[in-house]
Amino acid sequence: MNIAENIHTILNSLEGTSAKLIAVTKTKPIELLQEAYDANCKIFGENKVQEMVSKWEVLPKDIQWHLIGHLQTNKVKYMAEFVSMIHSVDSLKLLQEIDKQAAKHARVIDCLLQIYIAKEETKFGLSQEEAIALLESESFKAMKNIRIVGLMGMATNTDDLTQIRLEFRGLKTFFDSLKSTFTNTENVALSEISMGMSGDYLIAAEEGSTLVRVGSAIFGHR
Ligand SMILES: *Cc1c(COP(=O)(O)O)cnc(C)c1O
Repeated sequence: MNIAENIHTILNSLEGTSAKLIAVTKTKPIELLQEAYDANCKIFGENKVQEMVSKWEVLPKDIQWHLIGHLQTNKVKYMAEFVSMIHSVDSLKLLQEIDKQAAKHARVIDCLLQIYIAKEETKFGLSQEEAIALLESESFKAMKNIRIVGLMGMATNTDDLTQIRLEFRGLKTFFDSLKSTFTNTENVALSEISMGMSGDYLIAAEEGSTLVRVGSAIFGHR
């Protein structure tokens, strides 16, 4: 497993697309993160707050940390000081807590609304209707320390590549319609679509992803 080589292969395959690479470092030890960093990959995705915090404490401070996994309200305070982007916002209540904790650090935290696109019952996320209702709510409009910068979605865990492609395409279509409905305000600036993992990042990039979240294709199987 050559981490630098894997990163370069992925970056080459993404050339000409709009997708930026997030190295998903969950469960991986510091030394491997350092290897990725040395290969000039400085955007890391973690799915557990505690793990992200302990890695943030010891690694170089120019790394951008993205929280990509399901987030509990009571964990937000531990990362509000430094997190670059939260991909997994799936309720107004969670967003209110992020807003409150970001304010304590005089920050604005970029967030993505996680949209339910898979055919499975197990995935977290908002429906399209719920996302629109959130963006239209008065409590959302009053928030000053978060900014919704786009959407995140996870495709069905299937070998059916056509199915996966159609789910990504559906997310892009929804993103485009939101972008034409919601003009940019203080806390809405839609530019990011986080979709695609090791098995499907090329499809995602073809379908308009701007952030691919790749773990095992860089670091090997967990
Ligand atoms: C683990 C994880 C990934 C990366 O998965 P790989 O298949 O290892 O690339 C991407 N997104 C989320 C939300 C994850 O939890």
